[in-house]
Amino acid sequence: MKFGGTSVADLDRIRHVATLVKREVDRGSQVAVTVSAMAGETNKLVGWVRELSPMYDAREYDVVVAAGEQVSSGLLAIALQNIGINARSWLGWQIPVRTSSMHASARIEAIDNAQLDERLARGEVAVVAGFQGIAPDNRVTTIGRGGGDTSAVAVAAALKADRCDIYTDVDGVYTTDPRIVPKARRLERIAYEEMLEMASLGAKVLQTRSVEIAMLHRVPVRVLSTFDPDKGGTLLCDEEDIVEKKPVSGIAYSRDEAKITLHRIDDQPGVAAKIFGPLADAGVNVDMIVQNVSPDGKKTDLTFTVGRSELQRALDAIEKARDTIAYREVTSTADVAKVSIIGIGMRQHPGVAQTMFRTLADKGINVQVISTSEIKVSVLIAEEYVELAVRALHSAYELDAA
Ligand code: ADP
Ligand code: ASP
Ligand code: MG
Repeated sequence: MKFGGTSVADLDRIRHVATLVKREVDRGSQVAVTVSAMAGETNKLVGWVRELSPMYDAREYDVVVAAGEQVSSGLLAIALQNIGINARSWLGWQIPVRTSSMHASARIEAIDNAQLDERLARGEVAVVAGFQGIAPDNRVTTIGRGGGDTSAVAVAAALKADRCDIYTDVDGVYTTDPRIVPKARRLERIAYEEMLEMASLGAKVLQTRSVEIAMLHRVPVRVLSTFDPDKGGTLLCDEEDIVEKKPVSGIAYSRDEAKITLHRIDDQPGVAAKIFGPLADAGVNVDMIVQNVSPDGKKTDLTFTVGRSELQRALDAIEKARDTIAYREVTSTADVAKVSIIGIGMRQHPGVAQTMFRTLADKGINVQVISTSEIKVSVLIAEEYVELAVRALHSAYELDAA
């Protein structure tokens, strides 16, 4: 069982979570619980670090931000003990959850299940602090924002759990973010592949890495509401287990985007390598790319997108490589957002992208960059139109709730 930040936001909610855990224990299950920090705590801790030093040491950042989960795991263990459940908290290093040394966005590499298995067999509930682990050099690490989901699925995989129930503030995965589209519909099931695209394209209901691990280890994951646990729910499953394959199952959006254009670069072999090499060296992830046709066959423009928080780093890398790339001018903006349609049914249905372009055109929304894969189409648009675009597409693909 995993409980996110809003589910453990205060003591009353932690008491409520304890009753949900007890219910599961009373059903005869062996239970490991992962918790996130109380709502708002991680942001507060991140804020302190940044305020103290914009150029902070990532190892110390991890020590500070991992603290939120230490508090919530201890509190939940106490709440469980109060209602007669034998429970014990576990920090990342105590299990241990071994991760890479990439501080602030470490990858879980191995979870030692020996102690947990033994305690669970004795009827003890393990309350695991999510989001944290330990690097090869024994320093505390964290695994990226929203990482509580990944901790939960990784623990479930390590314990070979029958199920991983992710309890959150919505009662499942919806066709799109219910906060911006009230007509969004809950999906009974979603294929791992679709959920992976949804998550990586911005739906923050599950962290992308958690879906990768679930897919790899075939962990049956359910998304449920902490506040209405017996209602709804969404099951992540194999594609074959989905009967009705609509062309589009969901819509995701991301505001974490920025666009860079290099003007008048040479239109000849090797130029793209000269541009993206320095960006890769600077650790910048490039997402969408489009190169314009050159009217004279000599010079062209190249546009690409990067995460908004990486914009400055990307611009610096390009400036440094100015002599090798030989561009005339570089322009950039952070006022962009990415909207994506996702569906395994897209493979069978032609004309899916066309509906997207028609719908956006009818609303007067200009498409700046397009990228596609087998089961998604993404467009880059002006940020101010995100909600309008998502709602219009939601209706156009007949996803609106009745
Ligand atoms: P937690 O703190 O439990 O981890 P999050 O805030 O990380 O919860 O994730 C849940 C939120 O994800 C929901 O409140 C919802 O606004 C948002 N969300 C975005 N896209 C979707 C979607 N397609 N389905 C459900 N929720 C979504
Ligand atoms: N507390 C962490 C965060 O806010 C992890 C999580 O909530 O999943 O990012
Ligand atoms: Mg989350």
